[in-house]
Amino acid sequence: MILPQYVSYAISKIEDSGFSAYVVGGCVRDSLLEKTPADWDITTSATPQEIQQIFQHQKVISTGIKHGTVTVIIDCFPLEITTFRIDGDYKDNRHPEKVTFSTNIEDDLSRRDFSVNAMAYSHQSGILDPFGGQKDLKCGIIRAVGDPKVRFREDALRIMRAIRFAAQLDFGIEIETFRAMETCANLLENISAERITSEFSKLLITNTPGDILNKTFNITSRLFFGETSKNDLEGFASILDNILCDTGLRLAAYLILAASRLDKDCLTLAKSFFDRMKFPNNIKSLVLSVLTHWNGPLPDNRISVRKMISQTGFDTFQNLLTIKSIFAPEQTTPTKTIVDEIISNDDCFSFKQLDVTGNDLKDTFGLSGSMIGTALNELLDAVIEERCENKKDTLMNYFKNVPDNTH
Ligand code: ATP
Ligand code: MG
Repeated sequence: MILPQYVSYAISKIEDSGFSAYVVGGCVRDSLLEKTPADWDITTSATPQEIQQIFQHQKVISTGIKHGTVTVIIDCFPLEITTFRIDGDYKDNRHPEKVTFSTNIEDDLSRRDFSVNAMAYSHQSGILDPFGGQKDLKCGIIRAVGDPKVRFREDALRIMRAIRFAAQLDFGIEIETFRAMETCANLLENISAERITSEFSKLLITNTPGDILNKTFNITSRLFFGETSKNDLEGFASILDNILCDTGLRLAAYLILAASRLDKDCLTLAKSFFDRMKFPNNIKSLVLSVLTHWNGPLPDNRISVRKMISQTGFDTFQNLLTIKSIFAPEQTTPTKTIVDEIISNDDCFSFKQLDVTGNDLKDTFGLSGSMIGTALNELLDAVIEERCENKKDTLMNYFKNVPDNTH
């Protein structure tokens, strides 16, 4: 296995001081899959204090020291070095009561979640793989380390992690592990919304989240919406996979599919979802604005398309069209053609494009306050509906002659 130089350096330095050290977890998994690891983690028999001593000439950050982790900066790269750990009994399906340090790497590997994440490597010892992680990597299987029920009861977030890794790696889930996920699904209620949101967000932007989200639908639907469904939904997996790989668009599509499977209104479902989960505001508003318009028909002529864009905003309209084009491609083709025409013709559908400003109306007609907004709306409508050309003089004249306006 090829390790970056700063990682090999750190391992050798720890070994030279008489301790053992290995790269461990995701970086071993990804290296064996010939993917570039996102980061490199080191596990060691040395205690955090001993690591601080060994790296006394480097910058050492001791933020995770309670859990045995120190971060050492080597050649400007931050490297997390964690002492072999045994996690004590878990409380609340979340946190171990206490963490004990160990001098045995097998203890540390056995506390890890899945066989493919429970391997370690050093140039000295080669690959340590006590739970068959290499075989599972070859067969494409996510398998819990030890008794899956026990492991999910210890930390129910692992259920979401199993789904996330299955999607990320395009793996299946070993049957006993899968059954235990279903049995323990109710324990996910005890996990913080932040941790769940983080796993679910990673899952949404994998290449193929559809199949696993379909197979585990009742696990997520129970967690997010408090109910499950007996119905399958044809196309669930392929629709999700075909949605552009973007958190907001994928989430909107998942909520639409879930609503359909649960026979619920998607906007109502989405609102209750966001009450429970902690998504950033930009994602939340993208999803809600698309779902607000989801059930309506798509406009099918140039005036009504411009009108709808002026109401929804261009981004929301595009997002709506992007998602609809996966759900019902044939329905969206005419609208897409019209949007292309509108863009290439530089048609006006927003105040920004209007050839008069609020100041023009103020200066010429002495309008003020909310009257300006009303007047601009009136003029935009007139342009969109082709009652008036988008030219300053024409617009001013038009406005002067509109009956009942307030100037
Ligand atoms: P990623 O590439 O997404 O970072 P990763 O495998 O590195 O994947 P992390 O969440 O960074 O995942 O965790 C690092 C390692 O710590 C995992 O590979 C696993 O061995 C262990 N681990 C993380 N979370 C848990 C957990 N909840 N229970 C048991 N082991 C865990
Ligand atoms: Mg990681």
